[in-house]
Amino acid sequence: MKVVKVKSLAANRIKKGYPALESYDFKDRNEAEEGDLLKIVDTAKRFVALGYLGDEKKTAGWVLSLDEKTIIDDQFFEDLFEKAKTKRSAFYADDLTTAFRFFNGEGDGLGGLTIDNYDGYYVFSWYSEGIYKFKKTILKAFKAVVPEHTGIFEKLRYPNPPVKSRFVEGKEVESVVIKENGIRYKAYLNDGWMTGLFLDQRNVRRRIMEDWGMGRKVLNAFSYTGAFSVAAAMGGALKTVNVDVANRSKERTEEQFELNGLSTENHEIRVMDVFDYLDYAKKHKLLFDLIVLDPPTFARTKKRTFSVDTDYTELVKDALDVLATNGILITATNSWGTSRDDFFEMVNDALEEKDVDAYLMDEQDLPEDFAVSSGYPEGHYLKVFVLERTK
Ligand code: SAH
Repeated sequence: MKVVKVKSLAANRIKKGYPALESYDFKDRNEAEEGDLLKIVDTAKRFVALGYLGDEKKTAGWVLSLDEKTIIDDQFFEDLFEKAKTKRSAFYADDLTTAFRFFNGEGDGLGGLTIDNYDGYYVFSWYSEGIYKFKKTILKAFKAVVPEHTGIFEKLRYPNPPVKSRFVEGKEVESVVIKENGIRYKAYLNDGWMTGLFLDQRNVRRRIMEDWGMGRKVLNAFSYTGAFSVAAAMGGALKTVNVDVANRSKERTEEQFELNGLSTENHEIRVMDVFDYLDYAKKHKLLFDLIVLDPPTFARTKKRTFSVDTDYTELVKDALDVLATNGILITATNSWGTSRDDFFEMVNDALEEKDVDAYLMDEQDLPEDFAVSSGYPEGHYLKVFVLERTK
């Protein structure tokens, strides 16, 4: 354990419950290295917290405990997993939803690690080399708490990992069909960082199925594997158009429809740039009555780069050109760096510039399994607005 000294502002912030360590917090790093356990003290050498060093895009490490007496051993991690499991007992009891986040980083007391459960297959995502150094202890603790797991996979989500994804132990499968509110989705557990399904949009998919899909013509932009469209179709949508620039999206989307016994006849899959499609749709005077915009925070395609901060307003403006009166527009972003209010402003700017009347009919946040630490509101990274166009 390394004793590191932090600046006064950092010490007070940590004591208030902020769980992240920033690179500029340190007064004396004491040559601590990636993965070292830290005893964090203030400038007067008074105890502040225990933590570890793990370099991520956003943080330099995480706080583990504000209690000096805590021992960071197998039992420490077991206790965290036990708590996480208890917190999700409603998910474990729900036969209609078999995929959920089992452990959500700092929201469950340990920043740098998330664990997703895909019907008994657990996918660990390690966000720094530092946290990865605890792998042996963490896996042991996890298996003590979840002995019934079927298999374990892992994603190494830090810069220049030896591999992005690999099988760890248990039963090895390529994919697994999970259920979410009764809908089936196929997830690929060992194919890069993503699995084909973003579990954090579960509540939005449910509302689309139950409330916003019926009878509608749907445009799903940045559709990936078409999950929103499948939910809409299960909820009675007449037609969906799925637009994604990635080749793989076509067969993956078809597969999701077929899994649910839906014919792909009324569901178009277009492998192309969203902005080009919106151009095309406008020229051909196409109109949709449900549009979902769920782009990545940043993407570079052959033709252009898209970034939430600079291009979201433009994206909404283009989408409004093909949104029918009384149509619903769902705008989503998972950008950590964009606050809810800034995002609201971006969407509102588009409406004002286009002189379109709409109102905020609903707003969504992360689902319950994506636990957020009260000291770290940044953890609410998902922002979703649901607007109804009135004119
Ligand atoms: N909305 C999806 C997740 C989107 S992931 C879901 O609910 O599952 C982001 C997707 O955007 C990726 O599949 C990527 O291929 C696609 N993408 C990025 N830039 C794009 C662009 N300019 N046009 C079309 N697709 C794009």
